[in-house]
Amino acid sequence: MLKRKRMLMLISILLIVSMIAACGTTDDNGVEENGLDENGEAEAPEEEETVMDTEVLVVGGGGAGLAAAIEAAEEGASVILVEKLSILGGSTLLSGGILHAAESPVQERAGIEEPWEDFAEYWMEMSEGDADEEMVNYIAQNSGENIAWLEEKGVVFGEDLTAEGISPAKRGHHAEDGGFGLIRPLEEVARDLGVEIILNTTVTDLILDDDGAVIGAEGENSDGETLTFNAKAVVLATGGFSQSPEMIDEYAPVASGQFCYAASGNVGDGLRMAREAGADIVAKDGVIGFRGVSPDRSYRDPLGGLVFYPNLYVDESGQRFMNEANYYALMYEDMVENESDKFYSIFSGEVPAEALEEGIEDGYVFKAESFEELAEAMGVPVDDFLETVERFNELAEIGEDEDYGNPAIATIEEGELYALTVLPATLGSFGGPRVNMQGEVLDPDGNPIKGLYAAGEVANGQLYKSVYPASGTSITAVFVLARDAGREAAMATK
Ligand SMILES: Cc1cc2nc3c(=O)[nH]c(=O)nc-3n(C[C@H](O)[C@H](O)[C@H](O)COP(=O)(O)OP(=O)(O)OC[C@H]3O[C@@H](n4cnc5c(N)ncnc54)[C@H](O)[C@@H]3O)c2cc1C
Repeated sequence: MLKRKRMLMLISILLIVSMIAACGTTDDNGVEENGLDENGEAEAPEEEETVMDTEVLVVGGGGAGLAAAIEAAEEGASVILVEKLSILGGSTLLSGGILHAAESPVQERAGIEEPWEDFAEYWMEMSEGDADEEMVNYIAQNSGENIAWLEEKGVVFGEDLTAEGISPAKRGHHAEDGGFGLIRPLEEVARDLGVEIILNTTVTDLILDDDGAVIGAEGENSDGETLTFNAKAVVLATGGFSQSPEMIDEYAPVASGQFCYAASGNVGDGLRMAREAGADIVAKDGVIGFRGVSPDRSYRDPLGGLVFYPNLYVDESGQRFMNEANYYALMYEDMVENESDKFYSIFSGEVPAEALEEGIEDGYVFKAESFEELAEAMGVPVDDFLETVERFNELAEIGEDEDYGNPAIATIEEGELYALTVLPATLGSFGGPRVNMQGEVLDPDGNPIKGLYAAGEVANGQLYKSVYPASGTSITAVFVLARDAGREAAMATK
């Protein structure tokens, strides 16, 4: 009945609209306003525009977006979260789900006692004192409580803690099911709290009033429909910019031309929108440095995962150049400092033959029986490579890598030899709008841009120098700071 009434109403509205259109005149562009153009052909229908009102608009539905949305909703604000992809999660979903934390309930259960100050000190050292100390201290101090918060929201952590980065402290907390184990429960909590989640919609521009305050945003969904969000506060949680070659060239040229394992939507929209709203941008030419075989071979793939073997690595000149068992962000540094575009990891003896053979078909792996043949297949100078192998084996035999300190050094022998091509690659970017401890975006004079907040990888420029301190530091920072930003944004709307 109700449907019939609505249908009749719709027909009447259409009739009125068509009647008005029938009285059409010609506009300045010579287009008939009666729905036909000057050639008498039907005009394309006007695009629909949807307007939505909310107190807090969260842009991006990864870890930061969900954490901010949950806190804002718990603070009593109405919240809309807009995600450009068809699923929530971003890089957080793709991640290993590791969080770095001290004084957490998991550590307590494991009998590990370690003050948060040690974690903060380690982070500052890895950032050569260049990170924002107040923020790093705050993250470290709240990292344990953050694990408790995630557990309360349904995230399950394994009881085995790991040492990450170059610290022996067991601060690596592993969410069960990795990134999925973080996103799935948080999505459920957000939905239960009434957060309106809109997928397949890209926020394209912020809306500013005459005083430069942010009062909403414009977006476009995958059907081409324009959406206007009127909001009292906007939280940018759009992740990093590592999938934008242009922004990498501009803000992190160290990674120019390299591939990235980050989520496809992370093209720096948040940084751009904040910049357009007048934000101060902090970027120090750093990234979450990693390495890989190719963008379509994740490190969880049998072939992609071969990069973790602590084998002899050589550059394009056939020379050894690093500790192959080092922490990945430091190996990345060594790779980018080297002049080569690509590197080779040499496998001999007991090898994961199935994955390597698959790599031959795809052009990532070379196979040979002698060192000379292998050098030729790789295209590196034969004599230099032979010299490198001789020295490597000499060190392996004495059982101490005096040159680079690889504790897993082992001799390589002719017979069945493989060379895996390895490239420097990244997991995410460093850099974005400067924020204060409340997550408010700041202009170059240090004044907050009213109504604009940012949290997560989009706003991590103050947290690092060029080296990523350890696995788990990014997601911990993402959650600790995004939760606060969401809460602060909600409070500001009251
Ligand atoms: C393979 C991989 C493994 C990793 N493992 C770990 C780990 O174990 N531990 C750790 O600490 N770090 C890890 N990292 C890094 C970490 O995952 C990220 O730094 C972190 O998850 C970023 O969270 P975020 O919420 O800020 O961004 P994301 O989780 O990337 O979310 C941003 C979201 O915003 C959306 N978005 C972007 N622009 C718009 C727009 N204009 N409109 C609407 N939506 C938009 C994106 O589509 C995306 O869904 C890993 C990264 C990768 C790629």
